[in-house]
Amino acid sequence: MRSILPGEAFPAHTPAASQIFTTVLCHGPLTRTEVAKRAGLSAAAVTKAVRPLIEAGYLVEDVDEEARPSLGRPANPVRVDGGRALFIGLKITGDEIIGVLTDLCCRIRTSRHVPLAAPGPRAVLESAAALVHELLAEADGFGVPVSGLGIAVSGDVDRAGGVVRYSPFLDWRDIPLAELAEMTTGLPVTVDNDVRALTVAEQWFGAGVGLSDFAVVTVGAGIGCGLVVHGRVVSGAYGVAGEIGHLSIDPAGPLCHCGNRGCVEAIAADPAIVRAVREATGIPVADAAEALRLAHGGDPGAREVYARAGAAIGRAIGSVANLFGPERVIISGEGLVAHDLFADQILEAFAASAFGTAGQCDLRTRPLPFEEWARGAAATAIQSFIRSDTY
Ligand SMILES: [Zn+2]
Repeated sequence: MRSILPGEAFPAHTPAASQIFTTVLCHGPLTRTEVAKRAGLSAAAVTKAVRPLIEAGYLVEDVDEEARPSLGRPANPVRVDGGRALFIGLKITGDEIIGVLTDLCCRIRTSRHVPLAAPGPRAVLESAAALVHELLAEADGFGVPVSGLGIAVSGDVDRAGGVVRYSPFLDWRDIPLAELAEMTTGLPVTVDNDVRALTVAEQWFGAGVGLSDFAVVTVGAGIGCGLVVHGRVVSGAYGVAGEIGHLSIDPAGPLCHCGNRGCVEAIAADPAIVRAVREATGIPVADAAEALRLAHGGDPGAREVYARAGAAIGRAIGSVANLFGPERVIISGEGLVAHDLFADQILEAFAASAFGTAGQCDLRTRPLPFEEWARGAAATAIQSFIRSDTY
């Protein structure tokens, strides 16, 4: 556990109060009775928790003279005042940082990209700090404080400790990123795995709103998966829950960077597709964009590589469905630019591998730009800010 930087404390002192605020954030405006029903709490608990949140300006009550109180409780709906606090979210990829400034409702007020000259922690931190200072300067114009910074990084991330344990794209091991970023920015920092951060945003504001159990599967430079079980984003005992990229689906398949063979990531991630297209066509394509052009141009060898990738992704999603039975799987990631080349194979392989009614799971494709991932990082910062059991 890290010490928390001093800052304005959020007036929710119990897990129930945090839950009530989150319920209004995701579903508001709601009356206190509706909040109680959604959160599964007593109306008295809601009334008690809402009062200090209104007094501190985080919630506002929409006054309707016609609304009649029920059991002495105001019947007016309450909603979050998005302008009460600001947050910054950063998504670090292998070659750039995407930053967003959001309000308390996680609405993006402004966004910025900076290229990464080098993937080392020092260079990345320098670029990140410069980007944060630009966004802080923008925030000045809104006249409210920036209450937290969220940073999303791919790989094995220990959110509680603020440490990136292993990020293959950046080649980082055991980097205490939260502490380093707190020192350079002066903000409280939350560091999380990038797909988990995106999953928080989908749970609160996206295609996961109102769902108890769903998954986000991302395809692109890597293959990732965020899991929501009983309404909670799952990290697992060791922080690596949902690593479907390293499900080995073909023991005789290509070697993966993790050391195993036939992992989904070794078949369906961008670097694997580029390698396989070169082998299949003999054409030395430089990157995923060139491989995609070749396939879109009708090259049968390249098209077959994408079809295999789709089948691998579909089998992996089938495994996710068989393991925890989500109501929906949201498929996203920059790899969706090839969606037309592997969508059918994903569906076929999923249908073939899902067991029984697990196959009823709704597969939904959602192309989300990197700003949405950065927004997810801001959502983790909001989560830390409003949680009474904060890290
Ligand atoms: Zn692997």
